[in-house]
Amino acid sequence: MPADSAATPSPSIPLNGRARAHIGDHPVYRALPPDTRRRLLAEGTEIELRSDAPQPLDRDHLWFVLSGVLGAFPADSEVCVAQVVSGAVYGWEHALGFSGSAAQVRPVLDVRVFRVPATAAREALGYDWLARFVALQAVQRLTFLEQEAACNASHRVSERLAKWLLRLHLGGNGAPLRLNQAQLAAMLGVQRTSINAAARSLQAMGGVRFTRGKASILDVPKLTAGSCRCGATH
Ligand SMILES: [Zn+2]
Repeated sequence: MPADSAATPSPSIPLNGRARAHIGDHPVYRALPPDTRRRLLAEGTEIELRSDAPQPLDRDHLWFVLSGVLGAFPADSEVCVAQVVSGAVYGWEHALGFSGSAAQVRPVLDVRVFRVPATAAREALGYDWLARFVALQAVQRLTFLEQEAACNASHRVSERLAKWLLRLHLGGNGAPLRLNQAQLAAMLGVQRTSINAAARSLQAMGGVRFTRGKASILDVPKLTAGSCRCGATH
């Protein structure tokens, strides 16, 4: 695609009553200088990835999440140790020329992403800027993982499940939560029976309804009341 046409954003297309998320609306992209934005736009592509056939994201790109949620899974594990929500970016290390963490990153919910080849991102953003940014992010990631470890050790499964559902709902930019209880148990690293009990408890509070293979958020304040709110930013 010639750079001229790539530099012209396509119009937002209504999707289930919502405007489709677009790279022009991504908060990290919008915070970049105009020249950098133009270069990224000329080199990048918007694509959709489905959660029912999740493929790990490659390490050759920088990925801007426009909608949906990605999860990070340590090798040979179904436990999801971190999420990359809409409005965030995955793969800063790739742009810097490193492969980053060994964890696989793949869609937890259907995602729409804007991906830029790592080498093009490095040229557009500059090595020094990237190096400072990755160092800052490493500290933030460590803090997050410390909080999550404390949460896993000390909070009830129902509180953690509520926290998770809120994180996916609020961070997914409206993407449907097509997750069954077996998948939720695996991702939280708990027994299926514990998730069943936690799901019943949250459902009884009126915050969420579980139907076959799907969780529907009915009432955010009620779900928040049942959550431990670890790591919440709102
Ligand atoms: Zn917690």
